[in-house]
Amino acid sequence: LRESDPVVENQITVCVRKRPLNEKEINRRELDVISVPTKNQLIVHEPKQKVDLTKYLENQHFRFDYVFDESCSNDLVYKFTARPLVKTIFEGGMATCFAYGQTGSGKTHTMGGEFRGKQQNFKNGIYGLVAQDVFRYLTHPKYARMNYSVSASFFEIYGKLVFDLLAKKQRLRVLEDGKQQVQVVGLTEKVVNKVEHVFDLIQKGSLERTSGQTSANSNSSRSHAVFQIILRRSGSRQIEGKFSLIDLAGNERGADNNKSNRQTRIEGADINKSLLALKECIRALGRKGAHLPFRGSKLTQVLRDSFIGEKSRTCMIALVSPGNYSVDHSLNTLRYADRVKEL
Ligand code: ADP
Ligand code: MG
Repeated sequence: LRESDPVVENQITVCVRKRPLNEKEINRRELDVISVPTKNQLIVHEPKQKVDLTKYLENQHFRFDYVFDESCSNDLVYKFTARPLVKTIFEGGMATCFAYGQTGSGKTHTMGGEFRGKQQNFKNGIYGLVAQDVFRYLTHPKYARMNYSVSASFFEIYGKLVFDLLAKKQRLRVLEDGKQQVQVVGLTEKVVNKVEHVFDLIQKGSLERTSGQTSANSNSSRSHAVFQIILRRSGSRQIEGKFSLIDLAGNERGADNNKSNRQTRIEGADINKSLLALKECIRALGRKGAHLPFRGSKLTQVLRDSFIGEKSRTCMIALVSPGNYSVDHSLNTLRYADRVKEL
């Protein structure tokens, strides 16, 4: 995919990003088993063995709205995924963008920004790029006179628990009122006046998410992170538009069959349940009158208002690791992404 390729406007966009082989994979002499022949096709060359033990590669073909190969930058991925959705929130709609894939496939790199060693460049992740465009839109004559106020929140969903990443992981409750409005009670929502302020919040929340990885409930691969940019008219409580950006839990956590202990088993079941409910909710977005199984998980419950309304748009970025050791997880990821759009 190139900068000059046309951007397609869809209500649901599903794309795949393949990262390069990393040092560990190269040292293990893993093979790159994923190829990207065109801007919307991907082939998995699955290593197989015949009964007589001769080895061969079975090619599995997939097609998506866009496929980003290992040469694509975050900027390019952004251009075709979240960027077309920024105007949605200025037009009274809800936008969501998900990063889905196994642990280590590049979800946080894509959403949060590229890593240089341990340092992450929050300006070139999708969170930061959306924030920059939101502030650019605000200066546009068409929107400047609307007197918008922008705020941001950042929280983590771990099983059935919700933690505020902008308030030292304070535990939050989710309530549903009689009008089916879902509220995360006490969630920090910081008003932001300039984009640098948003970068600070992204950094703060991201560090909060990954700090203390050793304590039982803070491994980022087992939780969903939700970063939101909210648009209101100054002086009003009414939400005009909201962009939710979600770095999902590693999907291998839900698929894992040899779960050693009870806690891990429950976790896996919760993750699996939330990813299945998410898929159904996105699918329902594209169909009038379809049932929304949003109560199926905390994740879909808190995103409920993003899955209703004809103006809502969503984008899923499925991330895959190219190495042959990851082929089963990559195929699972690709099949899931395929199902999100399949009629
Ligand atoms: P995940 O969040 O899915 O577990 P990460 O985003 O943390 O995975 O990525 C795992 C490692 O791979 C990180 O060191 C990251 O810098 C690297 N990485 C991921 N995607 C890319 C990419 N497109 N190009 C280069 N390195 C990448
Ligand atoms: Mg991550």
